[in-house]
Amino acid sequence: MSHTMTMSRRALVKISLLLGLEAVGKTLGMFAPFVYGASTPFIISKSNAEWRAQLTPMQFRVLREEATEPPYQNAYYQQKTKGQYHCTGCDLPLFSSETKYDSQTGWPSFWAPLNDSVIGTKTDWKLLYPRTEVHCARCGGHLGHVFNDGPQPTGLRYCINSVSLKFVST
Ligand code: FE
Repeated sequence: MSHTMTMSRRALVKISLLLGLEAVGKTLGMFAPFVYGASTPFIISKSNAEWRAQLTPMQFRVLREEATEPPYQNAYYQQKTKGQYHCTGCDLPLFSSETKYDSQTGWPSFWAPLNDSVIGTKTDWKLLYPRTEVHCARCGGHLGHVFNDGPQPTGLRYCINSVSLKFVST
């Protein structure tokens, strides 16, 4: 067997191994964003009774029942203070004031989360067209939606409910 042949076989084995690992990783949710669902195990998992005891009724409606707060009548849509926005449910830092911008929608909007691991998405068919819901990756709390009409550098608009967020100044 020639040296070249040996190398190409090795390369093939390596590629197969990597593809195999990626498939396993995707199955375990290591690489791909998780798909939110009733059976998704979150690091922080509580009963509805426990969440009701911890959250205000509005926070519960939005975070646990996927409601949306009214635009222009929420805490953070105009806020420009420097700091971070944490999950109201589990205190995980989700967004920074650095990526916050005025989307003119009446909801706090960001062009990126702090990093891709803090949020997950699922498709929402509540309206007649599909929207991508955004959830906290640690407690599964519903945050809002992400759209493709945001500013550069990402072109994304994370449209988030203020009640899902807790501002912490830095
Ligand atoms: Fe959370």
